[in-house]
Amino acid sequence: MATILEAVPKCLPMPELIERQSRNFRARAPKSDGCWEWTGNLSTTGYGRVSLGGQVFLAHRVAYFLANGECPTDLLIRHTCHNRRCCNPSHLISGSSADNSQDMVDHGRSIRGEQNCISVLTEEFVTAIKIACKTPFPGQIKLLAKKYKVHVNTIQTIKAGRSWAHVRV
Ligand SMILES: [Zn+2]
Repeated sequence: MATILEAVPKCLPMPELIERQSRNFRARAPKSDGCWEWTGNLSTTGYGRVSLGGQVFLAHRVAYFLANGECPTDLLIRHTCHNRRCCNPSHLISGSSADNSQDMVDHGRSIRGEQNCISVLTEEFVTAIKIACKTPFPGQIKLLAKKYKVHVNTIQTIKAGRSWAHVRV
């Protein structure tokens, strides 16, 4: 299975799902009155993930695609229920990352949870991290990881330029 990347700035376009793939997908997100919780694999950030044609996709994006016939690659698919495993299309709306951040703020949640496809950070935060890393001090990586609620490895790869290389400061 392809590895899921922590920081991909743009989503992959959804592949055409053949009947068997859609059936398998739906079987792993059983319908209910509330959230249709994904019973398959989860990403490190708690989103359902599914492999289709060798590529890993976020399950809720696939659910949105199946329900709407499209899944805009430049938009986030947000959970109105704030349940990352949820694949109920009526709980999913598309929106910009700004919408998502505002939504998080409105709900008193942290600024974490950005999911530009399968990423947990926005360009804005990555820029802030990169600027901070220009003035290193002991324990900084840990501190930044705590601040942005990501794994220390995420900060390290950003600092080393192995991810988000397109974000220049
Ligand atoms: Zn839900």
